Amino acid sequence: MSNTTIPQELIEKTISFHGHWCPGLAIGIRAAEWALKEMGRAPDEEIVAVVETDMCAVDAVQFLTGCTFGKGNLIHRDYGKNAFNFYRRQDGKAARLVVRQTAYGNRGEDMGKLYKKMLEQGLTKEEEEAWNEARAATSKRIMDSALTDLFEIKEPAGPVPKRARIMSSMVCESCGESVMESRVRHFGGKVLCIPCFEEMEKR
Ligand SMILES: [Zn+2]
Ligand SMILES: [Zn+2]
Repeated sequence: MSNTTIPQELIEKTISFHGHWCPGLAIGIRAAEWALKEMGRAPDEEIVAVVETDMCAVDAVQFLTGCTFGKGNLIHRDYGKNAFNFYRRQDGKAARLVVRQTAYGNRGEDMGKLYKKMLEQGLTKEEEEAWNEARAATSKRIMDSALTDLFEIKEPAGPVPKRARIMSSMVCESCGESVMESRVRHFGGKVLCIPCFEEMEKR
């Protein structure tokens, strides 16, 4: 029996936002469910999400919690970890949800093998069916699990990130495009944007 409190209709909207149904998205839905329950939704309360992965799950976190890159309250730290930090500015409530290794059940090894073969040689029809079946079963398992079986709740990885500041901009002396001041690089007495800086450095 599905254990989620997110209405089916909203789950379907999340799937169409992401483009497919997969175990990663299911994890993101459940992480967002925890955040909505414990902290509220971002437009009402000031919620900040710091995600340590850039995989499928983040789309669900973004869509359901209202934390988005554009508003500056969704921050990616490229650690390659299945972990999601949530902060509520109002009262400092914060937590880090780390996906338990057992969350995906016992199909992880099958899926890993099939995924590797899919990338390297492509799958036979039977293997494709096995792949779809394993993904569907794992996604279902995630939706059916209790949140405490999916996530370890830990202390957040650091203090709440500072609010997005309004930055003044500078003009890159190589390409002439305008750049946020905090992103300019200095090279050979010139102010450069990052791509131009990297181009200079290669020479
Ligand atoms: Zn996905
Ligand atoms: Zn430039």
